[in-house]
Amino acid sequence: MSDKDARSLSELDSREVSPVVDDEGLDPAPKRLFIGLICGTSLIIVAGLALLWIIPYIGLTNIHPLAPWFFGALLGSCAIVVLWACFGLVLNILLGRSFFFAHRIRGLMVKIFLPLMTILARIFGISKRRVRNSFIHVNNELVRSEAGRYPAEKILLLLPHCLQSSTCKFRLTYDVNNCRRCGLCPIKGLLDIHDIYGMHLSIATGGTIARRIVVHTRPKFILAVACERDLASGIQDVFPLPAYGVLNQRPNGPCLDTLVPLEDVERALQRFMNHEDLEKAKARKQTFLAEKAERQARRAAKKKSALEGADPDASSGSEHAPLEQAPA
Ligand code: SF4
Repeated sequence: MSDKDARSLSELDSREVSPVVDDEGLDPAPKRLFIGLICGTSLIIVAGLALLWIIPYIGLTNIHPLAPWFFGALLGSCAIVVLWACFGLVLNILLGRSFFFAHRIRGLMVKIFLPLMTILARIFGISKRRVRNSFIHVNNELVRSEAGRYPAEKILLLLPHCLQSSTCKFRLTYDVNNCRRCGLCPIKGLLDIHDIYGMHLSIATGGTIARRIVVHTRPKFILAVACERDLASGIQDVFPLPAYGVLNQRPNGPCLDTLVPLEDVERALQRFMNHEDLEKAKARKQTFLAEKAERQARRAAKKKSALEGADPDASSGSEHAPLEQAPA
């Protein structure tokens, strides 16, 4: 896809927003926090394992002279696994490339390290939100390094319902096509992206509905938009499915009229969608942009004529639809 074609879909929507999280140009702070926490957690685990060895060592010699060494070898292997995971994760984060079975490392991070890191962070007075933010960044990097490309119908874009305008009277939870695409909230732009890229798109009102949607659509890859808390728990829930998180923006506080950088969503799709479907999307996007330009030109001409006192559509009666519709 050329640079021109890769232009953000924020162009499709006059309500352009700036990204909170740019995973391509990562803020080093979340990385440092994550590295600090994972090293601390690993050292604590290793120290605990060493303690487990020392104590029985004194008693095990009485059972068999070699028993302490067998037990030591067992615990040493556990320590090696922990250090291997820690080392692999840190290398992955620093170099942006997968090392030492990235998939298994992500599993260890999701299932074991994150809960322990959260406890450690609490001891040091670091907020859960910062830990989750850091976790999402690192998870995204691991997913980027381990995941391949998927057909559009195997990708699920999962959205939180707080993206919908609180003043909108249409119910989208069961059918996103109820949206009239008025442009008052980011749903319009996201539906445009859906029309162009052709992946699944669903809106979830909570974790249970999100899980149901995942079971129903059976995706191979999930692109999720949510806050730190929902993204972190969602990534844990759907593991081992690769889930890439895009943080929403909350200018009105949590869960109310939130926003999402459309360019981040589109960039993630371009990274994880297979080339064949990306080519189709490219063609659809060109048609979409051409039709949009045509609509804008018609509107401008109509406005100009109205200002000059002659409405060209008064005679032709051509355009009456107030809402912009994306091509199907
Ligand atoms: S774009 Fe308009 S119609 Fe669609 S959900 Fe948002 S406010 Fe409602």
